[in-house]
Amino acid sequence: MLSRPRPLIGESKSLSRTARGFATLLLAATVAVSSSVSAFAQSVPVVRDAEIEALVRDYARPIFKAAGLANDGIDIVLVNDQSFNAFVTGRRLFVNTGALVTAETPNEIIGVIAHEAGHIAGGHQQKLRDQLDRAKTMAIIATLLGAGAMVAGATTNSRGLAGAGMGVAAGGGEMAQRSILAYQRTEEITADRSAIAYLNATGQSGMGMLKTFARFQSALSLAGTQVDPYRISHPMPQERIANLEVLVKQSPFVNAVDPPALQQRHDMMRIKIAAYMQGQAAVARLMRKNPTSLASRYGDAQQTYLYGNPGAALTKTAALIKEQPKNPYFQELRGDILMKINKPQDAADAYAKAASLDPARSGLLLVSLGQALMAVGTPDSLKKAVTQLNNGVGRDKENSEAYRFLAQAYGEQGDIPAADLATAEGHYYAGDYKNAKIFAMRAQQKLKRGEPRWVRAQDIINYTPSNKLK
Ligand SMILES: [Zn+2]
Repeated sequence: MLSRPRPLIGESKSLSRTARGFATLLLAATVAVSSSVSAFAQSVPVVRDAEIEALVRDYARPIFKAAGLANDGIDIVLVNDQSFNAFVTGRRLFVNTGALVTAETPNEIIGVIAHEAGHIAGGHQQKLRDQLDRAKTMAIIATLLGAGAMVAGATTNSRGLAGAGMGVAAGGGEMAQRSILAYQRTEEITADRSAIAYLNATGQSGMGMLKTFARFQSALSLAGTQVDPYRISHPMPQERIANLEVLVKQSPFVNAVDPPALQQRHDMMRIKIAAYMQGQAAVARLMRKNPTSLASRYGDAQQTYLYGNPGAALTKTAALIKEQPKNPYFQELRGDILMKINKPQDAADAYAKAASLDPARSGLLLVSLGQALMAVGTPDSLKKAVTQLNNGVGRDKENSEAYRFLAQAYGEQGDIPAADLATAEGHYYAGDYKNAKIFAMRAQQKLKRGEPRWVRAQDIINYTPSNKLK
């Protein structure tokens, strides 16, 4: 399931129609709460999805390795925004869904990741990146969207947006500067050269990177179109593209193409984003090229689940499972459909299967399994739910939504201090320290001083954010 922590503007199918309104709403939210990350966290456009996170991690892993960067446990953060953006803080890779759905091949995204890795290896914006790495994901998104919105406003000459953006900068402190993660031209040349080296080391072509950057270059002259934050932070003059083209074409791997299995996963990711975030017309557009491909049938099953008949969606998903029995995400979709038609035990079986097949060991699948077990509602299933939810947050510590389910499960078991502590954790990871402390203190009152849960509660109570970007 591709899910947002808390929907901001109703159903996802309305997203494409209200793309502009969405950006405005986000901006308004940022301005209103620039001093309070917690309120922003409620509207933050992060989407979570086991399949897409695993795929992007698979894109990044070989490149990070070639760049000599830490490649264990890269956190992928999917930002629900239709513009193109991607950046790495060190241990986290932020990428807009707009970038993923625009890219026709894995190579286009891999090229951008290689370029970002080049900036890291070159030590560009190191100080800022270190600050970002210490910050919580939600706080970074709040800050960056504020800055991005401001830049977009300035560029499109929209007085209202630009004016609002200034408010973000004033409230958000030094992090929300226009220059946030913006690079010098010399740094761009260095990053391009490094990117080619990483692509060569992994036997991949630079054509995807060239295609993406050339597209930005040509879009510079178009007024009134969507401003991609990536293009603003990475200057792309004509001569840079020309130099890059020479490097790309010198590579022995210039004609290398993505492995078919990876391209298939990429196609499935694109159609999934279209189905959940953009609506049926977008799915139809992607299906048109090859209506009988596995990706097209996946998109069809998903939109049948989202907009149509769950029974028909179940049949379509069963056909997908028959074709790829080891695909965890087909099992996950089956679980989602079964939850929708109120068959939680069958859903739990499907999620358990998905989790057992998942090489990426995503905590999200375990959280879905935990939710299904909660819905079954027997004391035994509730106990299993608590176990799975704890395993889920163990793999995925910043998943503040999962703590809410965990708190609910503990509450149903009558374990009130555990429920309070889980609620505290949820607030803590959402950046709402005030409520985190309130619930941590509440938990402590019923816990034995010095026991592990009491100590964890004390950590939350003692926590003080070290800088403005919490
Ligand atoms: Zn760059």
